[in-house]
Amino acid sequence: MVRTRFAPSPTGFLHVGGLRTALYAYLYAKKAGGKFILRIEDTDLERTVPGAVELIYRTLNETGLHYDEGPDVGGEYGPYIQTERKNVYLDYARKLIESGDAYYCFCSKERLDKLHKDGATKYDKHCQRTVSREEAERRIAAGEKYVIRQNIPAEGVSSYTDLVFGEIKVDYNDLEDNILIKSDGYPTYNFANVIDDHLMHITHVIRGTEYLSSTPKYNLLYDALGFERPQYIHLQPIMRDAHQKLSKRHGDANYEDFIAKGYLKDAIVNYIALLGWSPKDNREKLTLAEMEEMFSLDGISKSASIFDEQKMRWLNSLYVKELSEQEYHAHALPFYERLPYLKGFDLAYLSTLLHGRTEVFSDVQKLTEFITKFDGFDTELFVNQKWKTDATLAAKLLPDLIALAGSEWDTLHDALNAYAEQNGYKKGQVLWIFRIALTGAASTPGGATEMATLFGKKESLRRLAVALEKVRR
Ligand code: GLU
Repeated sequence: MVRTRFAPSPTGFLHVGGLRTALYAYLYAKKAGGKFILRIEDTDLERTVPGAVELIYRTLNETGLHYDEGPDVGGEYGPYIQTERKNVYLDYARKLIESGDAYYCFCSKERLDKLHKDGATKYDKHCQRTVSREEAERRIAAGEKYVIRQNIPAEGVSSYTDLVFGEIKVDYNDLEDNILIKSDGYPTYNFANVIDDHLMHITHVIRGTEYLSSTPKYNLLYDALGFERPQYIHLQPIMRDAHQKLSKRHGDANYEDFIAKGYLKDAIVNYIALLGWSPKDNREKLTLAEMEEMFSLDGISKSASIFDEQKMRWLNSLYVKELSEQEYHAHALPFYERLPYLKGFDLAYLSTLLHGRTEVFSDVQKLTEFITKFDGFDTELFVNQKWKTDATLAAKLLPDLIALAGSEWDTLHDALNAYAEQNGYKKGQVLWIFRIALTGAASTPGGATEMATLFGKKESLRRLAVALEKVRR
């Protein structure tokens, strides 16, 4: 059975790249009728951020990437948090020492620093060459600090097949004798990923291409321990532009921030899926369930993808359009609440006006900020080439329009139309003047009478009076 895993390190927010890895691992497993596992890789204690693990659970659950096994849901091969598996790794490291595939190392930080300063690009196998097993065990018994390093062959070429990139060849000479067990007794990623992928029966390892060239090291460990190697699927990075990777340091590249900006989770998942994969029919709008059906390795891109927020906005707008009025309103409310000038407005009505104009929910600010700018508006706005209107015409019509609004508020739309007809104006002329006078804005999320309904009778009359003052001056 296909078993994939997502193995994040809990170092902060769930970045777009991480979420994509999780998504592809999830889709690959689901497509094959297999299992998707969550494992927390937290053995680098200094990098662990409090709360990050809970954020990972929450994000995966919110986005629908439900894992079949994981720390908070359990499973046959737990624990699924590496720091809770500390003792498992040491036993395997000892086996590797027995077979000569690993060795104890006592080199001091000073010695290693000097090595680097003198131009060495990797550890020089000093302890492997000079410290016998017996001596090492004596020194450890006497309390000396040590690490365990992998013993990489000095020469030869390794090869394996990646399911996206094909055959990958790496010279052993280019690989370093990495630390497997640190002096605090915890394993490094380089060791723990192998032991856990084996013990958790992972069949397909899906991760970023930054691991493409270190995978031969892991393969040596699989072979030395008599484990079967998994299949590998490496994913190209997501780029900010042609040169720069999208990085965690770019604050806007994580799931939480997109939610805060008012993206819908389904749209985020949909867009992220397309950053490195395309379905056979090149469709762009896809639900998670559709992707579970369609996902396949031949759609995975061999080149990096560029993150395009404009495109994500467009995709999000399609999802926003599909919301019911109630759903739209529920999503928009927290964004309205941040805008003090909307106090007192009929927000449900506002939602009906904004729904078709919203790409992401934070747009509601831009769409409504005209409300705050009324007092300073420029009477040049009355100029409209198409309708042949200007401030002079506005000065002429506004007294009548104000009177109409006062007396025929409940049937304002018809009243404005009838007024235009009876007085030889085009409807567009009257509506333009009325709307500009009411809003002081060239573009508004609705027409003249919709804006009047939004403001209500009293505020509308106040605004019309202010506008008349302006054009009379
Ligand atoms: N903990 C590793 C990371 O976050 C996981 C890499 C892997 O999937 O093996 O990059």
